[in-house]
Amino acid sequence: MGIDLGSAALVAPLVERAPTITTLCSHSSLQIFHGARTEGFRSLGVCTGAPPRFYDAFPLGRPDQFLSVPTIPEIRSHTDELNRATALLVPHGSFVEYLGADAFQKLPVPVFGNRAVIGWEADREKERVWLESAGVRMPERYASASEVDGPVIVKYYGAKGGKGFFLAKNRKALEGFKPTGPHVIQEYVLGTRYYVHFFYSPISDRGYRVGRGSLELLGMDRRDEANIDEHYKLGAQEQLLNAGIRPTFVVTGNVPVVLRESLLPQVFDVGARIVERSIELFGGMVGPFCVEGIMTEDLVFKVFEISTRIVAGTNLFVSGSSYSDLVRPDLSMGRRIALEVKEARAAGRLREVVS
Ligand code: AMP
Repeated sequence: MGIDLGSAALVAPLVERAPTITTLCSHSSLQIFHGARTEGFRSLGVCTGAPPRFYDAFPLGRPDQFLSVPTIPEIRSHTDELNRATALLVPHGSFVEYLGADAFQKLPVPVFGNRAVIGWEADREKERVWLESAGVRMPERYASASEVDGPVIVKYYGAKGGKGFFLAKNRKALEGFKPTGPHVIQEYVLGTRYYVHFFYSPISDRGYRVGRGSLELLGMDRRDEANIDEHYKLGAQEQLLNAGIRPTFVVTGNVPVVLRESLLPQVFDVGARIVERSIELFGGMVGPFCVEGIMTEDLVFKVFEISTRIVAGTNLFVSGSSYSDLVRPDLSMGRRIALEVKEARAAGRLREVVS
């Protein structure tokens, strides 16, 4: 048997009655609801105000019921209602962001995956400790501008969409730079970005074995980032600034990508290290996560960020990706979550995937 994340009391209602797959109506919700429906679960969408109209356009991605709250943080006063509906919350980027990582972790409603991971993702310092101690290559970090010896990216903590991130070609270009808040100065890695969609199942005994379970690669995307892109970013910044445009990394969409097949062992190794270390640090990274990195010309994958839940880039693959097709046909990340719940429930192992 593996590691129990959830208490027996928390999980007991979901053993008695099938869970209702629940998430916030945004981000990757269509796919999550669609996956729930495909695997025979009921679904519930939390929204503010009237149910969003766009669901009418997507009958297979529409939740069976809605719970409307005045503002997202007020979900906290609707937990009885959620528990009456045997809600099982599926975290996604917007859900955690709008509710707040701390509040999300404290909700007295069952959550898919290990809710402890939310705290490790929210804090960039903790995230670095996790990844570096796992032996994952990350961009260099400079304690001060005087140490800089190449191109850098200055990142502000909690900057939404990388707003106000600052790029500098070299130390000279950093002279006179006045930070406007808590930030890190990081090596600017020149290369190609890949956002790798993994799923870790602690209860699977097939496939690419990691810990007691297995690691699946279900897709890969690259984010389209507003008004700035790729390797000409460093040169382009000056021109943008001269034109009165402040470059941002606000994500506007996603494009599918595949990696050279010979590089797959490297990204699987990175994914496996992240999972193995998470088991030692906080009981495990369970379910979907995304490794976000840059492949350099020397074919070294440097990880600048991880997302420890479903990412919106998986929306590309509602009916499968070049990778998930080789795992199981028609397997979206949303469906994979529902499948895990179904299999864990059937095996009496829900506590290993619900917290
Ligand atoms: P983040 O907020 O860390 O997800 O970064 C937002 C965006 O900034 C990423 O999607 C990349 O395009 C870019 N970026 C972040 N870190 C680096 C880095 N060390 N080198 C080059 N680009 C980066």
